Amino acid sequence: MNTEWIEIARKIKNLYPSKGFLPLHEPTFVGNELKYISECLETGWVSSVGKYVDKFESMLAEYIGVKRVVAVVNGTAALHIALKVAGVQPNDEVIIPSLTFVATGNAVSYCGAVPHFVDISQKTLGIDPTKLDQYLREISTQKNKQCINKFSGKIIRAVVPMHTFGHPVDMDHLLEVCSKYNIIVVEDAAESLGSYYKGKHTGTFGKVSAMSFNGNKIITTGGGGAILTNDVHLAEYAKHLTTTAKINHAWKYEHNEVGYNYRMPNINAALGCAQIERINDYLVSKNNLVSLYKDILYKYKGIELFLEPPFAKSNYWLQTLIVDDRVYDIEKVLSILNNQGVMARPIWTPLHELVPFSGSPKSDLSETEKFKMKIINVPSSPYLGEK
Ligand SMILES: *Cc1c(COP(=O)(O)O)cnc(C)c1O
Repeated sequence: MNTEWIEIARKIKNLYPSKGFLPLHEPTFVGNELKYISECLETGWVSSVGKYVDKFESMLAEYIGVKRVVAVVNGTAALHIALKVAGVQPNDEVIIPSLTFVATGNAVSYCGAVPHFVDISQKTLGIDPTKLDQYLREISTQKNKQCINKFSGKIIRAVVPMHTFGHPVDMDHLLEVCSKYNIIVVEDAAESLGSYYKGKHTGTFGKVSAMSFNGNKIITTGGGGAILTNDVHLAEYAKHLTTTAKINHAWKYEHNEVGYNYRMPNINAALGCAQIERINDYLVSKNNLVSLYKDILYKYKGIELFLEPPFAKSNYWLQTLIVDDRVYDIEKVLSILNNQGVMARPIWTPLHELVPFSGSPKSDLSETEKFKMKIINVPSSPYLGEK
């Protein structure tokens, strides 16, 4: 197996021979980044006031096709407030995939709610609606149009589909299941800017959704996130909560509830404006990169490139290999690739295995268990796919 993976590493490095080490995902700054940031420095508007936050919010809203966007400090904060304004309350249960980044679980905990883990579909790597339906039939009952977990007695308030590596969940089916059981949908679209389900942008299906613009995401604001919703009242409430719940007044400091200082600084939003201007270039590069990886990998047995589900157009944020663990030892594969200068990472440790969530309720997680040993991400920066 060593020779095969050394060969693969060499071919991946050849995508960009002049670079020593190929990171998983590097940002690209070739547009107006410097210009907009310099303007912030020159005018002094670097922090919580300035025109770029509004501008970034409206550019995103237009690109995504959603009524309102509220820019915040990071994706985790976006998810926290998205859940809160969607109606998640302390002691509720919130259904999330176990195979996700820890932030999805943390945000549920910040609301005082309990994450409840479900399994993924091998077609999307996100929540499997069929399995969810069967599971809810077994464990839940309806009371006053609310979904109650028969075993814990708690309200199952929301389901959070996460679009893994940019590949959309089967949203029609998921929405149907959630509506049948009276459960709210809040999307974790942190990884899926530029990804569409049946022609509609991810993050526009849930009551509220969250996005991230961390340094490794498809566009970055340094650190940042956004809350998306078509509900104008919820958007206004999200804005209020993320800006310390201050009552609008020229000089008085009056706050009508415990708010959060989650506002995105102007200087970060300036970076975001320059980045979103280039999003289509990034998406084209990432799609080219899929073909390049196909060419590299087609002849190896037991290694498959994960491709977008038929109903979706994925942003291919992180290129994903499904490695047959009967043929290859994934730990060895990771060590070979990294030693050869090709950064490679396994998928996240499933959340139900993490200490803070060890007591959380969970469904059968057989697909999660199967896939956690098979998935690796390989270098995916936009420049690798530039023609
Ligand atoms: C990146 C990410 C987040 C959180 O975003 P931050 O900006 O890093 O706080 C949440 N969920 C998923 C699935 C992510 O990949």
